Amino acid sequence: MSRILIIGAGGVATVVAHKVATHPDVFTEVMIASRTQAKCDKIAEDVFKRTGQKFKTARVDADNVPALTQLLKEYQPVLVINVALPYQDLHIMDACLAAGVNYMDTANYEPLEEAKYEYGWQWAYHDRFKEAGLTAILGCGFDPGVTSIYTAHAAKHHFDEIHYLDIVDCNAGDHGKAFATNFNPEINIREITQRGKYWENGGWHETDPLSVHKALNYPRIGPKESYLMYHEELESLVKHYPTIKRARFWMTFGQEYLTHLRVIQNIGMASIEPVMYEGREIVPIQFLKAVLPNPGDLGENYKGFTSIGCRIRGIKDGKERTYYIFNNCSHEVAYRETGTQGVSYTTGVPATIGAMMFCKGLWKQPGVFNVEQFDPDPFMAELNKGGLPWEELFDIDLEL
Ligand code: NDP
Repeated sequence: MSRILIIGAGGVATVVAHKVATHPDVFTEVMIASRTQAKCDKIAEDVFKRTGQKFKTARVDADNVPALTQLLKEYQPVLVINVALPYQDLHIMDACLAAGVNYMDTANYEPLEEAKYEYGWQWAYHDRFKEAGLTAILGCGFDPGVTSIYTAHAAKHHFDEIHYLDIVDCNAGDHGKAFATNFNPEINIREITQRGKYWENGGWHETDPLSVHKALNYPRIGPKESYLMYHEELESLVKHYPTIKRARFWMTFGQEYLTHLRVIQNIGMASIEPVMYEGREIVPIQFLKAVLPNPGDLGENYKGFTSIGCRIRGIKDGKERTYYIFNNCSHEVAYRETGTQGVSYTTGVPATIGAMMFCKGLWKQPGVFNVEQFDPDPFMAELNKGGLPWEELFDIDLEL
């Protein structure tokens, strides 16, 4: 019996709204609040048409802590599911502390003026959440999120020590557009254009952006060129699994995508530095977002699959073992179920399951936690029921 508040009304929020509506026994009352209330109303309308569930909506600027605190005090949810943008994380955590509400998100805090990814800012809230008797669950999407829980599952059931971890993220889908990003373009382009970084032998090593790559075979998809990038879950996983000697993250990109990205960067459109245009300041990447396709609208013609997983090498009972755990998700199936494409779906389903873990009291502990710090078993069981079933391969060639 839980009342929850979803903040944000983009692609991921749409999936969360549709999915929580299928569990009225757990999520008894739901409100969607975002900057543009019309978007919340549209989601609530679609959910009502599909499920008959009635959700409330509200307009809120989550960067306005007093206004958000007031909304939380009035509505009194047990949990906020933050699926707005990473810039809002700390403001929403502040409001949750002020109003006595538990917190969950899918992406770590990022300052608007600097593309910098680290958990330090949010981990610094641990004592305040602990003292308030509140839980904050960080990074409960697919990556971070399911990839971290896959690692926890591997550590619990298949390894005594994990030594090498490679997270592999393939989108083999085709949306038919010359260039579009699968989630918020600003966040996505900031992430991809930063320097690569991986963990090895107790330290971080940097690479030029997208300079390290190789073809990897993805199950039932085939070979796809995969690029080494930094991704936030590497930071928490090497902290929580100190036996890891090397941890890397790989993502696939097509040549067409990379060519567009290079042009966008070369002409300065990926910049986060404000420029003056016709007497007012604009941020090039924010303007670019306004002209690119809306990721939430890509679903209709999206064909193909995503394939995201963890390739792990380590020790079990004194012997070396290799292990690959992954999910393949169909963009078309995601669209039929929620009206969004696979990337929003693979993020929104885990966020819903994380919220369910909290509301059922299975992942409830005062403080700030990454998802791999909780018991993976009930979450893994729900993934199979919730539309993202996982598959495991043992003692195979990991290619890495
Ligand atoms: P969208 O850009 O589609 O949606 C973001 C929503 O947040 C919009 O509705 C936007 O409002 C709202 N918003 C932005 N600023 C504010 C604010 N100050 N106050 C209130 N609402 C605000 O993004 P996505 O749905 O694609 O992504 C949502 C989140 O999911 C992001 O943080 C992203 O990084 C994360 N993500 C995580 C993944 C994972 O696997 N862990 C994968 C993909 C995404 P408006 O409509 O008015 O612009």
